[in-house]
Amino acid sequence: MEHFDFIIVGGGVIGSAIAYGIGSRGYSVAILDGGGEAYRASLGNFGLVWVQGKGQGAPDYAEWCYETASLYPDYAQRLLEETGVDIAYRKPGGLTLCHDESEYDKRVKIIERLARESRSGSYDCEMIDRQKIQAMIPQLSLGSKICGGSYSPHDGYLNPLALLKALHIGIKRSGGTFLPGMTVVNLRHKNDSFIATTSLGSYSSTKIILAAGHGITPLATMLGMQIPVAPQQGQLLVTERVQPCLSIPISGIQQTLEGSFVVGLSHRNVGFNTDMDTALMKQMSQRVVDAFPQLSRLRIVRGWSSLRVLSPDGLPIYQQSDSCPGAYAVTSHSGVSLAPMHQGHIVDWIVEDTEPNNFQAFSARRFDVKETAH
Ligand SMILES: Cc1cc2nc3c(=O)[nH]c(=O)nc-3n(C[C@H](O)[C@H](O)[C@H](O)COP(=O)(O)OP(=O)(O)OC[C@H]3O[C@@H](n4cnc5c(N)ncnc54)[C@H](O)[C@@H]3O)c2cc1C
Repeated sequence: MEHFDFIIVGGGVIGSAIAYGIGSRGYSVAILDGGGEAYRASLGNFGLVWVQGKGQGAPDYAEWCYETASLYPDYAQRLLEETGVDIAYRKPGGLTLCHDESEYDKRVKIIERLARESRSGSYDCEMIDRQKIQAMIPQLSLGSKICGGSYSPHDGYLNPLALLKALHIGIKRSGGTFLPGMTVVNLRHKNDSFIATTSLGSYSSTKIILAAGHGITPLATMLGMQIPVAPQQGQLLVTERVQPCLSIPISGIQQTLEGSFVVGLSHRNVGFNTDMDTALMKQMSQRVVDAFPQLSRLRIVRGWSSLRVLSPDGLPIYQQSDSCPGAYAVTSHSGVSLAPMHQGHIVDWIVEDTEPNNFQAFSARRFDVKETAH
């Protein structure tokens, strides 16, 4: 049976960032990734590296998001140098638009709460009025409904498919092995090593990391961990290409370097269902047209839905198994935004057993009913 220092189950953006980090440190690492039937959030997401609004009631997560955004410029440059792939990362800041006074008031409360909860007592995101927003987007006229919004200088965006490609090239160049079509059906911990069985054979490793997105829960149970995740559907629409006219990402609207507008930000709890909902598509398009009436002329050329991998509180889970030490579970809804953290801090934790500050906030024990009842 082939043996590796590390096996990672799941080759999405999370498993791949970890594999690249481990391979770069000189260890042998293999990714076992599922077959064509698997749900893959990494192939269907919006590509934001987003800080603003994240981490209400969870200051450790708000700080985690700040840190990753501060690491991203160097990270993107390093990926380019090491893999030759430009992930098209840009950090012009980001906007959230408010379409009426009640949305504005709600946004103010969120930003004030994040400021109150932050360790420094301030939160680097400001509410701005319509005029200021218009000045940031001179080439598109704001619709009459837009009354203001929030702006954070830390937000940015990238091409998520290019990110995944860069990570896969990086894994290969650092000596890692990517094994596609290898759905893991059984995991065992025996004599200080792990055995992962797929329909095509078994592999062993000294440590194992579960980064299997929607497939993580049953695998984690086999290694003594409770990792609850659930699907939440998001739809994305893509328009025909036009001249660049929006150079800042807006929560739910962005223009790619190639000129397409991508429209997102829908949330449906419909289980493992990736059907498009036409009424929702209409609502999403209307919201864009309300914000920027000029865009009403654009044709939508593509659309898809994809399933977010959500923990019960929406925050990442980073957990080592108590009963099978050396087995780890890693899952997060913000796998694109957090790629530098997963390739850096999470790999330090797994390889060197060094925990980042306040790391216990991300343990799956927070969902343990018996523990929280005390
Ligand atoms: C609509 C939408 C918009 C989003 N927008 C953003 C955004 O703007 N910014 C951001 O940071 N994040 C965003 N996300 C979230 C982001 O896409 C996810 O956090 C990230 O892709 C999760 O990566 P992953 O590797 O955990 O999961 P996945 O990409 O789902 O990969 C999991 C992998 O595990 C494999 N697998 C599963 N079971 C097994 C098994 N038994 N054996 C072997 N392999 C297995 C599958 O084959 C799959 O390849 C968005 C998500 C959605 C759905």
